[in-house]
Amino acid sequence: MTTAPETLADAPVFESVEPATGKVVATFPKQTEDDVRAAVARARAAATWWRDLGWEGRRVRLDRWKGLLARRTPELAALVHRENGKPLADAQLEITLAVDHIAWSAKNAPKTLGPRKVPSGLMMANQEAWLEYQPLGVVGVIGPWNYPVFTPMGSIAYALAAGNAVVFKPSEHTPAIGKWLVDAFAEVVPEQPVMQLLTGLGDTGAALCRAGVDKIAFTGSAPTGRKVMAACAETLTPVLMELGGKDAMIVDEDADVEAAATGALWGGMSNAGQTCIGIERVYVHEKVYDSFVQKLTEKARKVTAGESYGPITMPGQVDVIRRHIADALSKGGRALTGGTIEGNVVQPTVLVDVPEDSLAVREETFGPTLTVTRVRDADEAVRLSNDTTYGLAGAVFSKDHGMDIAKRLDSGMTSINQVIAFAGIPSLPFGGKGDSGFGRIHGEDGLKEFTRAKSITRQKYALPVPLLSFDRSKRVDALLGRTVRFLHGRS
Ligand code: NAD
Repeated sequence: MTTAPETLADAPVFESVEPATGKVVATFPKQTEDDVRAAVARARAAATWWRDLGWEGRRVRLDRWKGLLARRTPELAALVHRENGKPLADAQLEITLAVDHIAWSAKNAPKTLGPRKVPSGLMMANQEAWLEYQPLGVVGVIGPWNYPVFTPMGSIAYALAAGNAVVFKPSEHTPAIGKWLVDAFAEVVPEQPVMQLLTGLGDTGAALCRAGVDKIAFTGSAPTGRKVMAACAETLTPVLMELGGKDAMIVDEDADVEAAATGALWGGMSNAGQTCIGIERVYVHEKVYDSFVQKLTEKARKVTAGESYGPITMPGQVDVIRRHIADALSKGGRALTGGTIEGNVVQPTVLVDVPEDSLAVREETFGPTLTVTRVRDADEAVRLSNDTTYGLAGAVFSKDHGMDIAKRLDSGMTSINQVIAFAGIPSLPFGGKGDSGFGRIHGEDGLKEFTRAKSITRQKYALPVPLLSFDRSKRVDALLGRTVRFLHGRS
């Protein structure tokens, strides 16, 4: 006889709920260590089958998956709207970008990863040299809830296109979306469990880290990222870390202030600020500070939480946002708009005069808030932007100095005169540094992330003077010495 669990934490299942209404979307099992190991074992066999399909076999199937997602976008967008809480139009935008990444990775995998001849050099002129990037085998993908389609797809599509099987553990806040993606893939690849779903809380993710997969692609917060790395260290399982951010935007004196205000508002408030590459801090040249703040607040007053963006998806995050706003106000900051929170709905909050040691400047807020700070010049803006433990992305608005400033920003990605644009360009690698993680999804680097380089040489003819042999004579050694001096010793 089984006894009923005493609390929800002990239950073998969990519920995902609509953030807007609190209604239950669906109930899912909390999968155990045994479930996880069984899924990884199934994935091993599927990985061999998928690898052996070759580039063309995989491309055809990934294209079918892409087509299915494109055709059923309204259905998936409706589910994203329900389970994550974002407006339908934003859900559609997210899916559209994800579809584009499937297309790009499938098309570009052969030429990025396929075998190629590389120069063998004068010393080894009798050898042919070949390089190819082989799949790792089974990739475990652990995802967050904020972009439940786009974000995991950056790992899933690229890992699949590179020839790996995937075991996907979506966030416990968005498991139905994860299931939808896995089911859609199984429709176009019914033969083998090339992509599987695991549902559960953090324990299930932790079990995946210990299950002997060939890589963990983790997207989530820095504190969880540390736990994932520690678990993976036990088995030397490599990790890709896509973590949080505290992205800054710089508005220089020659910026189009109107465009900068529009960008800051979207970068800071869209998706209720729950965007890893969302703008959280804005540094504005003193010459344009007043007009920027005026335009930004005018625009912010026209944006309404609950309409322009949804409620806060994760209940616990509301307290973090409240704490950051209260700390900023207690240290002399002022909220020019918003600052109010009702339930899980946070109005767009523009904060000024916030000291640099405040929580709202130093820690990831992950809510619809912006701190706007006056700076003397671009140098000060760059210095303050870089004064963070994070280093994911950011933006700069300037007519003439955008490229120069972008290169000096200590982060993985910067968009000039726009926000977040790099995420929609599949050929650009996506990732950060420091507390924002390491490794790259998207682009050629994103494909290579899920492979290992394989180097092969083939001897074309034997050298008259054997180099790699115990038969090497003193004459050969002397010749080698003369050759290296001739080739490299003259500079
Ligand atoms: P989170 O760290 O709480 O959870 C992420 C995932 O990890 C979930 O699936 C969770 O179940 C799982 N998990 C929890 N404990 C685990 C453990 N011990 N071992 C293994 N897995 C475990 O993050 P979240 O709240 O879901 O997502 C928000 C965070 O993600 C923010 O910090 C945001 O900036 C970041 N994020 C980063 C990117 C990026 O590409 N850099 C993209 C989206 C979100």
